[in-house]
Amino acid sequence: MSRVRVVKTVRQKHEASADLLRLLNEFRRMVNVCIAVGMEENVSSLKTLSLRSYHRLSRGILGYYRLCAISAATGILRNYRKTRKKNPRTRFPYARKLMLTTCYGFKIQNGLLRLPVRPRQYSYVRLNNHTLQVLSGLSVHSVTLTPDLLTISYSKETVETEPEGYVGIDLNLDNITIASTDGTVKTFDLSKATRIKADYRYVKSRFKRNDIRTRTRVFSKYGEKQRNRVQPLLHNVSKSIVEEAKSKRQGIVLERLTGIRRLYRKGNSQSRNYRARMNSWSYGELQRQIEYKARWEGVRVIYVPARDTSKRCSICGYKTLESTQRRLWCPHCGTVLDRDENAARNLAAGGLRFSPNGPPGEAMVEEREPGERDPNPQSRWRQVRSNRSNEDLTEPAETRTRLPARPLDPQQVRSIIRS
Ligand SMILES: [Zn+2]
Repeated sequence: MSRVRVVKTVRQKHEASADLLRLLNEFRRMVNVCIAVGMEENVSSLKTLSLRSYHRLSRGILGYYRLCAISAATGILRNYRKTRKKNPRTRFPYARKLMLTTCYGFKIQNGLLRLPVRPRQYSYVRLNNHTLQVLSGLSVHSVTLTPDLLTISYSKETVETEPEGYVGIDLNLDNITIASTDGTVKTFDLSKATRIKADYRYVKSRFKRNDIRTRTRVFSKYGEKQRNRVQPLLHNVSKSIVEEAKSKRQGIVLERLTGIRRLYRKGNSQSRNYRARMNSWSYGELQRQIEYKARWEGVRVIYVPARDTSKRCSICGYKTLESTQRRLWCPHCGTVLDRDENAARNLAAGGLRFSPNGPPGEAMVEEREPGERDPNPQSRWRQVRSNRSNEDLTEPAETRTRLPARPLDPQQVRSIIRS
């Protein structure tokens, strides 16, 4: 049983007072001084940057704001280094936004956030009921302020429950399919979100004014409206997925998706409309939501490589399935499978096979003939374990290629899927 500290954030709107705005401006100036120092002396580690830049910052500002500015600058410099590697023409780093993050000095009392602007001089922000309710009884980590938004991050200690089964989550453009090792399959419809995004895309495409400033302003307004309509849909789904997993004491298995954007780029001979649709897909946001909510509830989250999850038969493990319009057909065992369900089941099985304490091969047991079962699961497990690096949950070659000695009777398989 390991106790882990989990973090969440709550945000609310506010309007910055003149004092606070002055502090935000001063903070941004300090961040930019630190960035300049970092670029000039070619340092980006927090420690070296502190040593080189701390004395150059104005003495009039509270010491901990100076430290926070250095830490903000470190982040910006690090990002710059990273993008610089990919694109050598990256612009000189610069803090543009008015934004202050601090983990020192503030205090929450009587429904107010008290923030020092100068020694013994404070600025107050009234917290709304929702924020207070969320924060009650939890320890507050840090606060981030912009001229109109206040974000408070808070944390608690939790114990991760040992999963008794796994639920695989297959994210698609229009739906989310979840399949758990106890046999239940569920689909959440997300076509409404896709439709909302298509509507906004259409509205934006009708915008004709050729003025970049107006365009940016109008489009960011549309963006906010779209987010306000789509986010609740995603939150609903992720919440119910995590709640269900928690009540059934299951772990969650997600696909590690990389390079999705590269799949739908200009020049890939796909239609504009198709590319736009695929690129509006909020898979990353969904994974983010599921992951942080699960961690908060002590539900284990595992990522497995996306390889073959939609091509492999979840009944017998045969590698390439034939498809006919969202349906799959396995040439080896003759089963007809639902595309999304098959992927979700493969993911769930991936989680079970590789949970550190779960019995290996368990996920495949129900689908395999009795004679086919591994004679000594323990030995295989040991091998899996020794092959397994810290993060990589790749299947061992042995289980990937192995097929049952003779195909299962399709009738029998179908009854297994139904049960
Ligand atoms: Zn099959």
